[in-house]
Amino acid sequence: MASASYRGRFAPSPTGPLHFGSLVSAVGSYLEARSHHGEWLVRIEDLDPPREMPGATDSILRALEACGFVWDGAPEYQNRRSAYYEAALEKLKRDGLIYPCACTRKEIADSATSGIEGFVYPGTCRHGVSSQRAHYAWRLRVEDADIFFEDAVQGKQQQNLARDIGDFVLKRADGLYAYQLAVVVDDAEQGITHVVRGSDLIDSTPRQIALQRALGIAQPGYAHLPIATNAAGEKLSKQTQAAPLDLARAGTALWSALQFLGQQPPPELQRATPQELWSWAHNHWNLEKAPKRRSIAANGV
Ligand code: GLU
Repeated sequence: MASASYRGRFAPSPTGPLHFGSLVSAVGSYLEARSHHGEWLVRIEDLDPPREMPGATDSILRALEACGFVWDGAPEYQNRRSAYYEAALEKLKRDGLIYPCACTRKEIADSATSGIEGFVYPGTCRHGVSSQRAHYAWRLRVEDADIFFEDAVQGKQQQNLARDIGDFVLKRADGLYAYQLAVVVDDAEQGITHVVRGSDLIDSTPRQIALQRALGIAQPGYAHLPIATNAAGEKLSKQTQAAPLDLARAGTALWSALQFLGQQPPPELQRATPQELWSWAHNHWNLEKAPKRRSIAANGV
């Protein structure tokens, strides 16, 4: 793809229909791209068939259309992009940066310490697989050093992968590619310059930066928006039974997303059409107004 000075993206996983939480990420990434006169791509992250819901991809694309989003080019599908992921793995293999791992979940649980996202992999297979198995996972060797990055919403971030995460999986023993690998390879291959997404992924970003460094890929800019939570403080998602967007009231949903993102749309636009909301938003969008918080309760949406 040709290079652009700003190219953003929205990358939903088709695990269910578009809900308010995913609309917030779509709105934020879209307006940030358009306000920079940039491009905005849609990429369907259908990497993990067991977690997907039949029909979700169509339903997400239809909902985006009903809300008046206009994307550049045709949507990409991760399940058609395995050759890119395999090529990246081969390069990492040649460079000695990844290794096969034969550990089961139970073996890891028995010997690991807890990190920020479950167990920290104790490095059992770093110097050779612990046992012979028919299938192996592949893990990236991480360094015991702090990774820093400046997030455009959440500010300065810091994480030590060896302490907080451990060597992480790029390809699972069942043959599926991990999100961390696919997202880094796709963002680079699609020329994404800025990643704007929900802050539930902010703790993944240092892994993605480590992988970019290992692959010799440029680091995009990052902005992590607050995520919408329900009354119980859980992220709105299919698992927490988030309601699908009511497309008959797409304008109201957009108004609420803009309000959630601190943009203070005028109350009289609450019942406006998507077109009216977009024309207001294109003139008023300001990322600096987005709350510098990881999550916000979004009751009643
Ligand atoms: N597919 C991921 C999700 O739906 C988003 C990935 C990303 O934006 O990096 O949560």
